[in-house]
Amino acid sequence: MPDPADIRLLVLDVDGVLTDGGLYYGPGDVELKRFDIKDGFAIRAAQRVGLHVAILTARQSDAVARRGAELGIEHVIQGSQDKARDVRRIATASGVPLHEAAFMGDDLVDLPAMRQVGYPMTVADAADEVKQAAELITEKPGGRGAVREGIEHLLKAQGKWEKVVAQYSGEPHVVTPSPL
Ligand SMILES: [Mg+2]
Repeated sequence: MPDPADIRLLVLDVDGVLTDGGLYYGPGDVELKRFDIKDGFAIRAAQRVGLHVAILTARQSDAVARRGAELGIEHVIQGSQDKARDVRRIATASGVPLHEAAFMGDDLVDLPAMRQVGYPMTVADAADEVKQAAELITEKPGGRGAVREGIEHLLKAQGKWEKVVAQYSGEPHVVTPSPL
């Protein structure tokens, strides 16, 4: 029985998961994507309490490289031809067994990777077949807080989300003026 409390690695698809799936085409090969700030906050918070987070996408763009670097994500695999193989590579590189890994995807191309991991996750606006294969379907759609919701789900099952919140809900620091 898959248990979100066991999950130590979360692998994220990009288009339709970290974004709403929109691709903005500029001149030449410029491609723009819209990321969600609350997803990014949750990724950083998750890393601080020990959850590995990785990115795995079949497409290739500078925007993803930049967002991955900004969030301090160690494993960012772009241009993947085989997500099932690459999710195994990420798990090995992270030192986490597949049954302690989660993958969040949104379309048919993600199914092989979702079937590799212990805890497959998806978004509210995913393909029906993907929803059927998922242990968790977020209430929020891709690019609109789905990743945040998925991370909260994992960390709450592990009793760690409270630690994240506590970092921001403490008493304000009292600054004692130093003597002149
Ligand atoms: Mg996708």
